[in-house]
Amino acid sequence: MHGTKILEEADRLMTVCNSCRYCEGLCAVFPAMEMRRAFSDGDLNYLANLCHACGACYTDCQFSPPHEFNVNVPRTLAVARAESYSAYAWPRAFAGAFARNGIVISLVAALSVAAFIFGFAAWHDRQVLFGTHTGPGAFYKLMPHNAMAALFGVAFLYAIVALTMGVRAFWRDIGEPVGMKTDAAALLQALRDAGELRHLDGGGVGCFNEDDRPTDRRRLYHHFTFYGFALCFASTCIATLYHYLLARQAPYAWWDLPVVLGTLGGIGLLIGPIGLLTERWKRDSVLVDEARHGMDVAFIVMLFLTSLTGMALLVWRETAAMGPLLALHLGVVFSLFITMPYGKFVHGIYRFAALVRYAMERRAMAHGAGE
Ligand code: SF4
Ligand code: SF4
Repeated sequence: MHGTKILEEADRLMTVCNSCRYCEGLCAVFPAMEMRRAFSDGDLNYLANLCHACGACYTDCQFSPPHEFNVNVPRTLAVARAESYSAYAWPRAFAGAFARNGIVISLVAALSVAAFIFGFAAWHDRQVLFGTHTGPGAFYKLMPHNAMAALFGVAFLYAIVALTMGVRAFWRDIGEPVGMKTDAAALLQALRDAGELRHLDGGGVGCFNEDDRPTDRRRLYHHFTFYGFALCFASTCIATLYHYLLARQAPYAWWDLPVVLGTLGGIGLLIGPIGLLTERWKRDSVLVDEARHGMDVAFIVMLFLTSLTGMALLVWRETAAMGPLLALHLGVVFSLFITMPYGKFVHGIYRFAALVRYAMERRAMAHGAGE
């Protein structure tokens, strides 16, 4: 017996697949499945998060609908994966609401914070809000640096704590392989697999999206998004070091490292999310968890808006539009932070944890075979 209907269905499919084993070369899910004879809830959540949703095992399956076995591994694991985010979320109460209304909640949060900053600045001094400010410290005319750092520090810290609690619960539930500790080699292997999105290639041919012709587009757009996000994060970290260690205040010149990294990352975060949204819109509905459409789309839209408002601020930062644009950008970033633990962002973290677990299992098996 399993905790939910979708885990019952995942168990049924994994039992069928374990007898068939036709797809064992496609990705990590099938070799991990073959190491088990029975599946606990934790095992199924592990397999669900190991799946990269390439769709290959649906296209290749001789038991997919209309066959009476009704085998649809990508969709079943997609639903199980989404339910696992809610099951492990901290605090639990927030997860369900966000799954249903992700995009609305994200936009309301972004506009509320933007309106608060806008109203705060307008009430304080309208000249500051609509004035033209240039040179070091120009951004902090709108909101003092300490107030900005406190507001975003608290939001960021909250996101980190909530994400850590969630992934800790996930890791405990999927269970560390007996006798194996997480080691550097397993971590490196997982980093490589995650960095290359190795298991999103349908066993080497590409990802299946709208039809049975595989392409690498989803992998490419994921890369734009992931590395764009990483560059923007690096830009923010370096700007923080500039501020506190070198006493250099933003905004910086276009050739300065935080701006160069932020611009490259921002371009990635414009191309990647648009591509992912387009691919999702075209995707064959038989592969998709339609019920969580809002949660999936919300995170992609918020990433796009973060980049769009950030790039607009870069272009018009020396004009009177700077104040309203900064308020809008800060609102979007704040919303992104506080909704991160309950949205699609967590799929990257849980999938990485599953890849670490998989690398550990493979190493444990190799050691066992070598003894
Ligand atoms: S998805 Fe279909 S073809 Fe692939 S292992 Fe499972 S039952 Fe076999
Ligand atoms: S990664 Fe692709 S082949 Fe593997 S289980 Fe998921 S959809 Fe199927």
